[in-house]
Amino acid sequence: MTPSIKLASAALTLAALLGAAACSQPGEAPAESEAAADAIPASTDVHPFTLGALQLAALRDGTISLPVDQSPWGDPAVVAAVLAEAGEEGDAVHLSVQPLLVRQGDRVVLIDTGAGGQMGTQNGLPGALSAAGVEAAEVTDILISHAHGDHIGGLLNAEGALAFPNALIRMSAPEWRAMQAGAEAQGLAGFVAAITPQVQTFEPGAAITPFLTAVPLDGHTPGHSGFAITSGDERLLYIGDALHSAVISVRRPELVNAWDNDSDTAIATRRSLLERGAGEGQRYYGVHFPYPGLGRIEQRDGGFVWTPEP
Ligand SMILES: [Zn+2]
Repeated sequence: MTPSIKLASAALTLAALLGAAACSQPGEAPAESEAAADAIPASTDVHPFTLGALQLAALRDGTISLPVDQSPWGDPAVVAAVLAEAGEEGDAVHLSVQPLLVRQGDRVVLIDTGAGGQMGTQNGLPGALSAAGVEAAEVTDILISHAHGDHIGGLLNAEGALAFPNALIRMSAPEWRAMQAGAEAQGLAGFVAAITPQVQTFEPGAAITPFLTAVPLDGHTPGHSGFAITSGDERLLYIGDALHSAVISVRRPELVNAWDNDSDTAIATRRSLLERGAGEGQRYYGVHFPYPGLGRIEQRDGGFVWTPEP
C-alpha cells in the first residue's frame, strides 16, 4: 500500500465513521428508509433489485421471436429438438431484450439500450425507464456491450437525435474501431456521426466506475464486453451476447451461431462462462434470457441448464 493510498483509505474510514455517527443521531431517518426512498419502483416492465448498496432494474424493451428456420443456430430440426427437450412449446426461439439500469446516487448507468423498435421488438425501453423514475437526461453513462442493433438501437430517438443527451456512451476501443470502419457499408454513417461526440472508449477489461468493470467476452464481435458489477461482497455478471438463448446457447454451447464474428472463440467463451458460472455459482444477467434475466447456470446430466431466480 502506498502512503497516498493509505492516507486515502484512512480518510475513507474516517468518512465512514462520521457517516455512521451522523446516521445514528436521534431523529435522523434510519438507513433502511433512506434505502427505500432510493428504491426503484416495480412495474410490469421494470424489475428492481439490489446488489449490495446499488439499486438495479431490468428494463423490458421487447422480444425478438425467431422461427426455428430463421434462427442463427443452423439446422432447424436440431434447434426444435433442443427447445422440445427443454420443455419449450412452439417452433420459435424467443429472445427477450432487457437493458440493465444501475444506480448509485447521482450516477445513473444504463447497460445497452435495446433495439429501438427494430427486429420486431416493442421499443419498451423509454417507457420502462420512465416507470423506473429516471428521465433520459439523468442517465450519466451508457455502457455498450457491442454495436449490434438490439443493443445500440435505443441510442438515438425517432428524430435521429441522442436519446440520452447527457450520457457518455462507453464501449470498448476495438468495438468502436470496428463500428466506425463498418459504418459506411452498413448504412450507419449518420448514426456514428450522431453518437461520436459522446463516445468514450475503454480498453477491454478496464474498470469503468468503482462498481463496474468491463469483462472481455470474445468472439461475438471484435470488442464484445460483459460487465462485472460489484458492491460489497455481491457480484453480478452482465453476459451480453456471449450467451443469446437460455436454452440453445446454454444446452448446446458448441452449436455455431451465425451471428458470431469468430465462431471458435465464441464457443470457447460460452463454454468458459458456463463452466465458471456452474462452478462458482456466479449470478448472471442475461440481456436476452427470459425477463428479467437473472439467474445461475447449473450443471445437470453432463450439460448445463439455466436456473432463473424465482
Ligand atoms: Zn443481442
